[in-house]
Amino acid sequence: MTVAPPRPAALAEPDALIVGAGPAGLAAAAMLGKAGLRCVVLDRSRIGQSWRDRYERLRLNSVRWMSGLPGFPIERSLGRWVSRDDYVAYLERYAERYGINVSTDTSAERVERDGAGWALRTSAGELRAPIVVVATGWDNTPTMPPWPGASDFTGELLHASAYRNATPFRGRDVLVAGIGSSGAEIAVDLLEGGASRVTLACRTPPNIFPRQWMGFPISAGTLFEKVLPGPGRLPARVGDTFGRFFQRVINGPRHSYRLPHSPYGIATTQRNRARTPVIVDGLVEALKAGSIQVKGEISGFEGAEVVLGDGGRVRPDGVIAATGYGYGLEALVGHLGVLDADGGPIARGPETAPDAPGLHFIGYKLPHLYEIARDARQIADAAVGELARARGAPAVADSARQGRDAGHRAGGGQRRRPAHDHGQ
Ligand SMILES: Cc1cc2nc3c(=O)[nH]c(=O)nc-3n(C[C@H](O)[C@H](O)[C@H](O)COP(=O)(O)OP(=O)(O)OC[C@H]3O[C@@H](n4cnc5c(N)ncnc54)[C@H](O)[C@@H]3O)c2cc1C
Repeated sequence: MTVAPPRPAALAEPDALIVGAGPAGLAAAAMLGKAGLRCVVLDRSRIGQSWRDRYERLRLNSVRWMSGLPGFPIERSLGRWVSRDDYVAYLERYAERYGINVSTDTSAERVERDGAGWALRTSAGELRAPIVVVATGWDNTPTMPPWPGASDFTGELLHASAYRNATPFRGRDVLVAGIGSSGAEIAVDLLEGGASRVTLACRTPPNIFPRQWMGFPISAGTLFEKVLPGPGRLPARVGDTFGRFFQRVINGPRHSYRLPHSPYGIATTQRNRARTPVIVDGLVEALKAGSIQVKGEISGFEGAEVVLGDGGRVRPDGVIAATGYGYGLEALVGHLGVLDADGGPIARGPETAPDAPGLHFIGYKLPHLYEIARDARQIADAAVGELARARGAPAVADSARQGRDAGHRAGGGQRRRPAHDHGQ
């Protein structure tokens, strides 16, 4: 699809500016548009750029029916585990279906207060609107630990975000640092793609599941909590125990694949560390066969050697740092008092920080497409009321009332979130 430049009328006086044309920004634009708001979406690059930039073998590890955006499910013909390229094409169809106005190659640089609304400084000039939705992505800025000696490493060192396929590593010895979903899948890709040796450097042993077990998609397990009646939350230890039990049933005992138990259960990890279990096919089998080995975390580099936390040393040809991402929100909104100590938004989805009505963040609760779809609908509800207030008119839609109730409460779902590898 060719993305049309924004219509001048919409640019002149939009109701909402949305930063980022990934799944979250598109979902928000569609739902706001459906609620009658005129929106402009800005992207520093193109629709779905984060997905275009990811490694070639990538397939969604969330099942298709949990990965679609609101109002337009992913087509069955794309299979249960949608490929990267098919997902990008789906995002383009989604934008087309909802007539979403995307201004490509336009970076948002800084949000400022502007009376009852917001001014957004962009690479194409300043824009104003009563509502701003920030959707720049959980996986915005690759982070690499400050490993001593890294700059003098004589092998190749790259972040997982720069990994595309195994071809450059054929016949080479590669160390992958970090066992999140990306690190785990890249290790399997390297093995299958002909690397001579693949080792994983591991700081915190993760919980690991395959994409599906006996036909049941593991990603759907996260729904159980949401459908429970009443307060809807089981104690974390119940979820942790289930998680341990099912890992043993599915993968066998931990010693059979030479990975110590994770110090955190799946429910505790999700609630307190905002991380999901590692979902990867083929890793446990490779660990059992000894074709991928696990060693301690990297503590530094000395020339051609990598020094490991357990005192060991290895001499890989290449190191791929699957060491996570930061939110990268400081320059955009850091001066507005809407970020927590980890640089994440203090209020997410329909909620807004106390002094920032109309400034929403989507895609920062958990790195889940499923959460995005729900938040987009709720933000649209909240925005109808906020827009009416900003323009001095009473809100009319019932949904707006609901949105007002949800709005202006800071801190919902706050978690500490260190730089993460997706899924770990
Ligand atoms: C390897 C990998 C695999 C994943 N697999 C899954 C999966 O299977 N299922 C799942 O639910 N989740 C998965 N995730 C998490 C996934 O990233 C999110 O679910 C989803 O992509 C988040 O969408 P988003 O729109 O919030 O962010 P993104 O998709 O990252 O989109 C953000 C957009 O904002 C733009 N942007 C950033 N900064 C600016 C700026 N300053 N100005 C203008 N535009 C800007 C970017 O160009 C980008 O287009 C995966 C993550 C990774 C890293």
